[in-house]
Amino acid sequence: MNSINVFLSETSLQHVAAIHPPSIGGPEKVKSFILLVLQGALLTNERRMQRKMTDTDECGLCGNDNETLEHALRDCVLANLVWKGVFGL
Ligand SMILES: [Zn+2]
Repeated sequence: MNSINVFLSETSLQHVAAIHPPSIGGPEKVKSFILLVLQGALLTNERRMQRKMTDTDECGLCGNDNETLEHALRDCVLANLVWKGVFGL
C-alpha cells in the first residue's frame, strides 16, 4: 500500500502527480519535503531501522510508537501541534 493513500483520495493523488515539481511553491526545503512525501521516500525512523541506520524506530519528537510516515505526518501529538501552528488545523 502506498502510504500517501491514507491522506489523499485516488483522484487527488492523480491531480498532485500531474503537477510538475517546479510549480510547487515555497522554500527549497519545503519543496523537497513535499516531493519526498509524494514519492513515499521520506526517511522515517522505521525505514532507518530497516536499513540499519539506527537502533530505534521510535519517533524522535514524542518518543512513542514506531515512526512510520503516517505517524510522522498524522498521528504524532507533537507533529500535530506544528500542523496546528502552521495551518491552524
Ligand atoms: Zn511522534
